[in-house]
Amino acid sequence: MLAFADIIDANTLIVVNAMLSAVSAMVMFVVHLGNRQAAGLRSWALSNLCFAIGFALLLTYGVGKPYLDALSANLMIDLGAIVAYLAVLRFLSRPLRDLGLIAPSLALMLMETVLFVRDGVNMGEMVVLGVTARGIVTFGAGWMLLRHADANLRHAAMLSAAFHFLWVAMLAARACWWLFGGYNEVDWDPTTPAALIARILLTFVVTPSYLWMLTRRLDFELMRQAREDALTGVANRRAIWDQAPRALANAARSGKAVCLLMIDVDYFKSVNDRFGHAMGDQVLVGVASALSSQLRPDDTIARVGGEEFMVLLPDIATEDAMNLADRLRLAVEKSEFPLPGGDMLRCTVSIGMSQFISDNRNWETLVQDADGALYCAKNLGRNRVELAPPHEALVPA
Ligand code: GH3
Ligand code: MG
Ligand code: MG
Repeated sequence: MLAFADIIDANTLIVVNAMLSAVSAMVMFVVHLGNRQAAGLRSWALSNLCFAIGFALLLTYGVGKPYLDALSANLMIDLGAIVAYLAVLRFLSRPLRDLGLIAPSLALMLMETVLFVRDGVNMGEMVVLGVTARGIVTFGAGWMLLRHADANLRHAAMLSAAFHFLWVAMLAARACWWLFGGYNEVDWDPTTPAALIARILLTFVVTPSYLWMLTRRLDFELMRQAREDALTGVANRRAIWDQAPRALANAARSGKAVCLLMIDVDYFKSVNDRFGHAMGDQVLVGVASALSSQLRPDDTIARVGGEEFMVLLPDIATEDAMNLADRLRLAVEKSEFPLPGGDMLRCTVSIGMSQFISDNRNWETLVQDADGALYCAKNLGRNRVELAPPHEALVPA
């Protein structure tokens, strides 16, 4: 890249950088206007604006007060890198302690200004302090993207991180050039164009990858909402209906048993009638949480109707499933829901259970059997667990 950079005019690269940053700022800002909840977009637009102004100032270098432009351009570009770091921090919801990384960059910017005011121009100092200030936060932003992006954002985050590191490497090359001898050969400095090219690539890649991550995040959120019950946070009917046939196919292949529990809150209508719908909703959330607390990681709980839940238990023996179902029943029975007057409301559930043991039954039959067993549990007095009788195909001749 250094050899390539040697044949390109630095001013042209500065113009391209300024224009690309300005366009990126505009794109990010327009996207932000249409999607104000998207974390970090405004900071990202602002960061690009700082870069655009910084590079534009570099072009006026020597036109007005010589070198003052260079200082303000340098500081503006450093500020752009700091705001970009804040954008990544916000986008990935990183803890506030990660803000600490901007302190050394701010200190270096301050030092650069103080030295400039005290000693006048010293290009070597300005370059080394400036590239270190922006290099630190840019490395931090790349590191966060690499280490802390969710799995569904990983590809875009890795791509973006790689170009952050490329710019940091070129900035480091630039600092070394000025520290170790380049200072004496000011006429031939391939590190400046190389760093400018790396910055062009970073702006060029980061804008679409940020939008890509944003789209992935929105897609993921929509997919999650489509599979989640909005009130209780457990899976919904669609999710368990999608998942169950796969679980049964796996069980049939491996010869393992699967059990299905159909759970219905007893006399729930009277909870609504006596204490209101809002209290009924609170009870449903509490029941879902009491049930979930007893389940194993591979079990699935879903709310499949108003006050009806289903639990799919893969790889479990009948007796263990009956014991687990009874633990679920007891967990709900023990739960207490505070009423406005200070009293406690309690409720119970009835549970019907059916089994799949590598036979020719399908999901629909399993659901019907569990439903039948639930009906029995209700008829036999509620607050109890009933097992569906063996399917006819299983009854020995
Ligand atoms: P059983 O013991 O026979 O199951 O009696 P039940 O009263 O629980 O059964 P029923 O089917 O008569 O009543 C269910 C009630 O659940 C009726 C409906 O108003 C209520 N319900 C359904 N969805 C919701 C909900 O999302 N929130 C609240 N608060 N109530 C709901
Ligand atoms: Mg019901
Ligand atoms: Mg009920």
